Amino acid sequence: METKYGFTKIGLSEFLNWIDQQRVGRTILTIQQHHTFMPSYQGFNGSNHFELQKGMKNYHVGQNGFSDIAQHFTIFPDGAILTGRSLDVNPAGIKNRNSGAICIENLGDFDIGKDNMLQEHKDAIVQVTAALCKKFNLPVNSNSILYHHWFRLSDGFRNDGAGGNKSCPGSNFFGGNKVENCEANLLPLINQAIAGHLPITVDTNLLRYAVVTADSLNVRVGPGASNSLAPGRDPVQLGAVLRVYAESDGWLKISNSANHWVSQRYTLEAKRFIVDAGSLNVRFGPGTNHPIVSKLAKEDQVFVLEEEAGWAKIALNSWWVNKTYLREF
Ligand SMILES: [Zn+2]
Repeated sequence: METKYGFTKIGLSEFLNWIDQQRVGRTILTIQQHHTFMPSYQGFNGSNHFELQKGMKNYHVGQNGFSDIAQHFTIFPDGAILTGRSLDVNPAGIKNRNSGAICIENLGDFDIGKDNMLQEHKDAIVQVTAALCKKFNLPVNSNSILYHHWFRLSDGFRNDGAGGNKSCPGSNFFGGNKVENCEANLLPLINQAIAGHLPITVDTNLLRYAVVTADSLNVRVGPGASNSLAPGRDPVQLGAVLRVYAESDGWLKISNSANHWVSQRYTLEAKRFIVDAGSLNVRFGPGTNHPIVSKLAKEDQVFVLEEEAGWAKIALNSWWVNKTYLREF
């Protein structure tokens, strides 16, 4: 592994160990697949990984006004993986869909007639996605592995590419960018890659979920402010949904395997639900008199923070849905 400009370059064989060691406070529900479009294969010379990554960060921060590079990982044509923003921060990948997401940018232009994806690139995309599914207990399906193309650009509504969408991750990405292409071509490869690993486990020790209400909340090695900061752990961020495994004197244990604690005072209890309607309006308040700000699709998952007269608040910024169409997960 090599680190430069704040990014770490990880070989595919190293990635599986590396991801195992990461402790992530956010509850991960989805993995986004993108292509960089620019730079494409033409801009990659076999050794300029860090320079290309730095260029993308400069563009995202300088041109788009993002706080950091948009993605968590960039996968390069030679199969190398570069880290991007912290896994404890939501990405800037798909409008209104970044909460609980991991964003992968695959370097290249995979529209029909453009870059021909190399075999080592394909292998890395499959193996990395499989390792993330295993790490975060995600089922291998088209509700947890998402292509940017399936979401309307203007508001993030999932329409599976029916209009107003980008082609990203490319109209020839693993044979096409439609849901059926993903299910026929990519998901079976990910399932094969996972087959050698342990099966997905049920998180039986999980007590509940909690959402972070402070801008940034330190993670400590014990329940109390006198305990030192957990080494190698980034603070958890505003809006992150944490998994709670134990409680003690106003402190929450947020890792099943490690002694990692945060103060409960800066959290709210959250309940996990799944959308049970074809299309569900998200409104800027609890009632149909409030304007529609977004839409959810069947099988989307949400965390409910508050309930009021049959309505459920699903985000810190006052987004509400009719609770009739939610089913507890
Ligand atoms: Zn994209």
